[in-house]
Amino acid sequence: MEAIRRKKVKELLASEPGTEVLAKGWVRTKRGNKQVKFIALNDGSTINNIQIVASTDIFSEDLIKDITTGASLEVRGKLVESLGSGQAVEIQAEEIKVLGTCDPMRFPLQKKDTSLEYLRSVAHMRLRTNTFGAVLRIRHAMAFAIHKFFNDKGFVYLHTPLITESDAEGAGDMFQVTTLDLTKVPVHNGKVDFSKDFFGKKTSLTVSGQLEGELGATAVGEIYTFGPTFRAENSNTPRHLAEFWMIEPEMAFYDIEDNMELAEEFVKYLVQYALDHCADDLKFLNDKYDDGLLERLQSVLGIAFERVTYTRAVEILEAAVAEGKVQFEYPVHWGTDFQSEHERYLVEKYFGKPVILTDFPKDIKAFYMKQNEDGRTVRGMDVLFPKIGEIIGGSEREASLEKLEQRIDELGMSRKNLEWYIDTRRYGTVPHSGFGLGFERLLLFVTGMANIRDVIPFPRTPKNAEF
Ligand code: ATP
Ligand code: MN
Repeated sequence: MEAIRRKKVKELLASEPGTEVLAKGWVRTKRGNKQVKFIALNDGSTINNIQIVASTDIFSEDLIKDITTGASLEVRGKLVESLGSGQAVEIQAEEIKVLGTCDPMRFPLQKKDTSLEYLRSVAHMRLRTNTFGAVLRIRHAMAFAIHKFFNDKGFVYLHTPLITESDAEGAGDMFQVTTLDLTKVPVHNGKVDFSKDFFGKKTSLTVSGQLEGELGATAVGEIYTFGPTFRAENSNTPRHLAEFWMIEPEMAFYDIEDNMELAEEFVKYLVQYALDHCADDLKFLNDKYDDGLLERLQSVLGIAFERVTYTRAVEILEAAVAEGKVQFEYPVHWGTDFQSEHERYLVEKYFGKPVILTDFPKDIKAFYMKQNEDGRTVRGMDVLFPKIGEIIGGSEREASLEKLEQRIDELGMSRKNLEWYIDTRRYGTVPHSGFGLGFERLLLFVTGMANIRDVIPFPRTPKNAEF
């Protein structure tokens, strides 16, 4: 059978009829009658299947019996114009080999229950579904587009460490990394003796590559990171994972305005890229799960994001509550961190477009954000999106050595552990800015999926690290 070169399904569907072809893939469905069977074959190269037409004159009952949903096949035959609707071409099978059978009684995807929740319980197999095929291809396209966007702008892809000593960032709870025997933890003066641990210090998985990113940006100008990030968030929400991927650009000589411009250009670029390169998969997800998806993607492209200060946003939210236009589960007043219900009200109800919030109270933001003249707020920025809430968090960084050290002291943090970071301000400090985009938050928006567990192949959440 190998005499002709195998073509992927995507290629076959775009080929002219009339040639001899070889296809390989997994059976999605089989239907038909006594004379002829129609097999939908998919190899993951596209959401679309190639139809195999198998005449029972040629193929034995035994062989046809083995062609069940999930089985893998090799098919040789003639590519012909399809008479049925839904596809331009199909394969008139001349030879079929079952590569691997698939017991219909046991195959987890044979079940009637195809809810996303059920599929999470068989996450090792769910990748074989149309839905996860679409999500995986879109995820790949977005990862590629991210590298392309930054590469085209001359940014350097910086690899920041996953294991870190610094617990100063305060971005989230950390997972400890240790080789100590937890049944016999070494103790010194009543405390765990980390000098006996692998690194001789307490270490954790990173919650952000930003601080190291700043070292890179203040050396080569513009960098981005794109890697796994870990937060021991004990919140079981549809927007949080314990292991997620983050993109963190960091740019020397950028102020907050430049930072906002880049963030807006970046997400628009990615949405446009998805529309241009993932049309079939997006249409599938739009039709199956969320018929507002394509429209929502289009809707963020043509307009300028609304830029509004935190203080103004609080006024808007307070007024909305006072006028009885909305009720929130969490109360809102100046000084509180917004919950996603507040973010979504601003985006979906009040402005009707993505919003960039700026100038937050300093007490709800990290130590490194540039302090404003008012003494109360810092030059942070969050980009809020419809259906998601916060998709990007960033800021202009405090460039003044004096102010940075003063803020570190104020927060009772240790300067000693941060000396390496403070050196950026000590030696040739420059204004600089950056932000973090949660890759899976972006994917929630682009795919229209409602739960973050459904946009990453193997989700890690509290009490779940299976597969
Ligand atoms: P949130 O308030 O939504 O929990 P955050 O303020 O803790 O997020 P940042 O520290 O600003 O988040 O991180 C930057 C970006 O990383 C966020 O804008 C978001 O897109 C993403 N992100 C943060 N935490 C998670 C998580 N647990 N799972 C997935 N993405 C996350
Ligand atoms: Mn944030």
